[in-house]
Amino acid sequence: MSTSQTLFRGGMIVSMDPAVGVMPRGDVLIEGDRILSVAESIDAPGAAVIEASDMIVSPGYVDTHRHIWQTQLRTVATDWSLFDYFVQMRSIYSGFYTPDDAYLGNHIGALESINAGITTVVDHCHIMNSPDHSDEAIRGLKDAGTRGIFCYGLYGNPENWSEQPTGLSDGWRYDDARRIRSDGLASSNDLLVFGFAPTEVTATDFETTCREISFARELGAYRISCHVSMGNYDAGTEVVRQLGEAGLLADDLLFVHGATLTADELKWMADNGAALSVTPETELQMGMGNPCAVRALDAGVRTSIGIDIVSNYAGDMQAQMRLLLQAQRGLENAARTDAPREIRFKALDVLRIATIGGAEALGWDNQIGSLTPGKQADIVLTRCDDINMVPCIDPVGALVLNANSSNVDSVFVAGRQLKKDGKLTHVDWPTLRRDIRQSSERIVKGFHSIDRQAIEDAAARLMFR
Ligand SMILES: [Zn+2]
Repeated sequence: MSTSQTLFRGGMIVSMDPAVGVMPRGDVLIEGDRILSVAESIDAPGAAVIEASDMIVSPGYVDTHRHIWQTQLRTVATDWSLFDYFVQMRSIYSGFYTPDDAYLGNHIGALESINAGITTVVDHCHIMNSPDHSDEAIRGLKDAGTRGIFCYGLYGNPENWSEQPTGLSDGWRYDDARRIRSDGLASSNDLLVFGFAPTEVTATDFETTCREISFARELGAYRISCHVSMGNYDAGTEVVRQLGEAGLLADDLLFVHGATLTADELKWMADNGAALSVTPETELQMGMGNPCAVRALDAGVRTSIGIDIVSNYAGDMQAQMRLLLQAQRGLENAARTDAPREIRFKALDVLRIATIGGAEALGWDNQIGSLTPGKQADIVLTRCDDINMVPCIDPVGALVLNANSSNVDSVFVAGRQLKKDGKLTHVDWPTLRRDIRQSSERIVKGFHSIDRQAIEDAAARLMFR
């Protein structure tokens, strides 16, 4: 490993470390993959210098929930409910993916997230149509250079559209998950580690869910990602409470959405260390309820943000922070009978959820999530001289309410520069762009070759029983 030093000089520092806070002007020194120091002025003779004046220096964003494979289906879900998503994405589009498509979706999706300043991503990957799909999905992430957790999804995508969708998995995926764990993702010290995603817990019986969680633990999955508490789609199921009563809640569980988690379930999670990923835009659009982040934080749950699906919207954290912030403020303001004198939920609160909060949810807060000496050098430089960023009076407000991916100038993951001067450093974009367009055209054509009425009817019986 290189031990060369790099000095980020003269930037606005938004550290997310309470001991450092926000500095109007400061330096950050890294060596190899680690942060050495953060201070107003650092003398580092021999270090390579990156001039960061007119930039905000901040920790990389942590996206704790994404189905990265859907990159080449961008915008198909624009007007979907969760029911539409289940019928069209999970029961039809997914079946047309080849291993090459899985590679392209995951590779370009991971690059898109790096481009936006996301340095850690949890891939809840349910595109395992064959063992080759698993290998290619992982290769796509590794080639992109992101840090993250690859959660092996057990969900059974359709192989034959005359059959009714059940999501139930064939036995081979158990063997394949075991193979991936012992072969492709054996180490817990690599940038990408092994996680697990059960069959949809709301589509199977509770015993199956328990068995799958036990299987994930037998494999040593670092995190187990589960969709739960999605409004009226699974009202009354209370899977989290059931898992609590069964003694299965622990800090390896990462629940996703959770918009309708009860106070009792949030307490179960807080008491047992289980974490939450809210995905604001999906929850607001698809009929799951209002994002639960502040209720969860108030209950003591480790809470984070996921971006979920670029088949629906942009893959950047800035938009999700903004949505979460204003949706919560809207809820709180609407609940009042008087005019608010003060706004309770602050931009810094939501920036915290998107950085160190994500790290805490993944149990990596001693490694990432803030600019803290000794932590990994996962660092983002955001330009403040672009037309949508001038002047930058409050850098926290600028990151949360003004910035977008185009303002992200540089991105480092474990000290490796993956974006420089606004461009990804390790990408042949014209070739990738051509490949993903071809992949997309073929999958969309396949989708339109299917008569989906029978599938829709079967899905309605499953979801609205
Ligand atoms: Zn999801």
